This record gives sequence, structure tokens and C-alpha cells, in this order.
Amino acid sequence: MIGFDLDGVIIKIGEILQREILKKHNYDIYDCRHTYYINVPGLSHAENQNLVYDIIINHGMEANPYPGAIESLINLYKTTQENLTFVTARDPQLVGAQTWEWLKKYLGPTIPFHVEFIPSKSKAEYLYNNKFKTFVDDRLRNVNDIAEYLDAVFLINRPWNINRETKYNVIRVDSVVDVCERYINSKRAFV
Ligand SMILES: [Mg+2]
Repeated sequence: MIGFDLDGVIIKIGEILQREILKKHNYDIYDCRHTYYINVPGLSHAENQNLVYDIIINHGMEANPYPGAIESLINLYKTTQENLTFVTARDPQLVGAQTWEWLKKYLGPTIPFHVEFIPSKSKAEYLYNNKFKTFVDDRLRNVNDIAEYLDAVFLINRPWNINRETKYNVIRVDSVVDVCERYINSKRAFV
């Protein structure tokens, strides 16, 4: 079974955050693109987190998918007949319904999917306990935490994780399109 993180992997939330933070705080998050967390000067960590959620609540539906991501997911489902499973650290109370709505909007009514809302620090344990073999994330720390427990862990190259060291069994790729292709090929190899 394969699991996918959402933000930074499937959902291109960065450009919405950039647009809104520029509007509200006159600060371009492009300036902090090399760190995972949004860090608007003058705001505490909690205030930055609240700001991000505020934007996702009000503008999350405007986010585009990464190029090719949706087509690849649909193809993956059609080829393997495995339900798509997304594992995100998004807060289900704040944006759970909207996250479902976004996925429904892009995947359409006929592709079954499932979303688990799991805080980053518990993702590794969740994936291991639920027998996932493969996971895809854009956060370096997550993939390093998970790598030793799964067969294959993919890190999507993004500005906030490049030039940083991954564990030996983390596979870096440029997009989820690559991951889906590899996963489908690995399944074919065993039939
Ligand atoms: Mg992410």
C-alpha cells in the first residue's frame, strides 16, 4: 500500500500562501523558501501557524494540483485498483471537510480515496502500524523518520528540502508523477 502526503506533494498550496502573505504582511515567503516552516518576521511560531491555517481555510480551494499529479493518481488507481490514501498533518477540525472537497473536485466522483489526518510526529508510527510499504512526502524530517520502517520512501525535491541529507534508503524524485510510474512498474514486476 502506498500513501501520499498532500501539501507540497499533490496540492500546490505554496503559491496561495505566498500570494496571501504578500497581501497581508507585505512579505514574500520566497525569502524563506529554504526552510519548511513559514516564518513571517515579527510573528511567533504559533502566529505563523495560525496565519497558514487562516489562509488554507479561506483560500485552500483555490490551490492548484502540481502538474500531472491528478492524472498520475487516477492512473495509479486504475492500474493497481488500490484505493488512494492520503496522510496529511492538516488539522481535521479546521480543514478536514475542505480537504475532502478539494480531492473530490480534482479526483472526481468515481475514484475512491481515503484521508488520514495524522500529525507529523506520529506519521512514521501510523504508517508502520498500518502496513504501508511506500510513502511520499516533501518534508525531509518526515521521510527520514519513516525511511527505516518502509520498503520505499520518496522525497519530492522542493526548495525547502534540497541540499539536505537524507537517510540512505530515501529516494529523491522531482514529482509524484515519477513515484506513480515507479510504483506501477514495481507492481508489474511481481505479477
Ligand atoms: Mg507536505
